[in-house]
Amino acid sequence: MNMPVAAAGWVSLLAVLAVPLPALAAEAALSPAWFTAATASAPLCAGSGRRVHIGFERAAAAACRIDADGHVHVTIAPENRPINPSPWYGLVLASDAPASTIVTLHYGDSRHRYAPWTAEPGAPAVRLDPQAVTVPTDQHSVTIRLPPARTRLLIAQPPERSDDVLAPFEARVRAGQLIRADAGHSIARRPLAVYLHRPAKARGTIVIITRQHPPETSGPQAFARFTDVLLGPSRAARAFRRRHALMIVPLANPDGFAMGHWRHNLGGVDLNRDWGPFTQPETRALGAAITAEAARGPILAVIDFHSTFRDVVYAPPQPTGADLGEAMLQAITGDLAGADIRIDRAHNPGNGVLKSWARDQFGVGALTWEVGDDSPTTRTNHLATAAAQALMAAAR
Ligand SMILES: [Zn+2]
Repeated sequence: MNMPVAAAGWVSLLAVLAVPLPALAAEAALSPAWFTAATASAPLCAGSGRRVHIGFERAAAAACRIDADGHVHVTIAPENRPINPSPWYGLVLASDAPASTIVTLHYGDSRHRYAPWTAEPGAPAVRLDPQAVTVPTDQHSVTIRLPPARTRLLIAQPPERSDDVLAPFEARVRAGQLIRADAGHSIARRPLAVYLHRPAKARGTIVIITRQHPPETSGPQAFARFTDVLLGPSRAARAFRRRHALMIVPLANPDGFAMGHWRHNLGGVDLNRDWGPFTQPETRALGAAITAEAARGPILAVIDFHSTFRDVVYAPPQPTGADLGEAMLQAITGDLAGADIRIDRAHNPGNGVLKSWARDQFGVGALTWEVGDDSPTTRTNHLATAAAQALMAAAR
């Protein structure tokens, strides 16, 4: 479905792109000190002059062995089953001499999903040359040829830690732009960070949330750009913020994120199937926070950012003319950046998905915006900017 984007939208889009935006956390390099700390822990396995460490915050591995020829084998397993399989990995490899290393990741009956990235101390992460990555036809493993280095991170997505995720919002709290009002705690007592913008006279609140599913990175990238535009210095953004409250949740599943989970929270539950049942502290606390916000004024839109194999937006079943979510859909699906995005208007009440719960609870056009795992960053940023612009224009 393609809808036209108003010509004026292009003008304001270009105006926003001219504003320098801070680098996304994923572009930051991990310091040599970080690598030193990561390799100071006991290795998961060692042999043939090589050691494998689970040093990264978002990583877990079930088993590890190193052959006499230095070939490294690591078994990657999910937190529990059944699960929607998204094998996540993050290993720090250290070697006595800077030799090339062959690593095979074994996924059991799950399939390879994330193309590997690598980082060396002090350098930004880069995606490995596809020539160095071999996936067998059954996809139950991947074999990766790593270039020589004494220490190297091998990771499923660009490296990103909890602190990186919250940093842009913490900076806005320090600058007095946002209020931090945590919804509560996860099972492991990690804070459920909520950032609020509350003007004196708000028409209502826009709820923006991401990282219910720990490995997803491209959706959170769209979230980062989307919130950055709404909170930015443009005239449209300042006018928008004078009349609209924002509730921003950058890390809805902090335990799963920190522990390298594929999908679930520490209770072994998919949080995006728990809106309604509310069996988990994370969804219970965030649901209560959104409901409390609704008592102050109407919830105008709920946007939940995810990642999957391709770009798809799950939207309300019936477009309603004045709906803020529809205005964003028009911008996302318009002929922008060569967009090829599927719109899915299925609505399954009671399925525990945030989008369905929000629609039934507040009658708003809630969106689940899924960004493809490998969608180009520039395109994702274009779409997120256009959607934020459309939201601000429609909310006038
Ligand atoms: Zn997801």
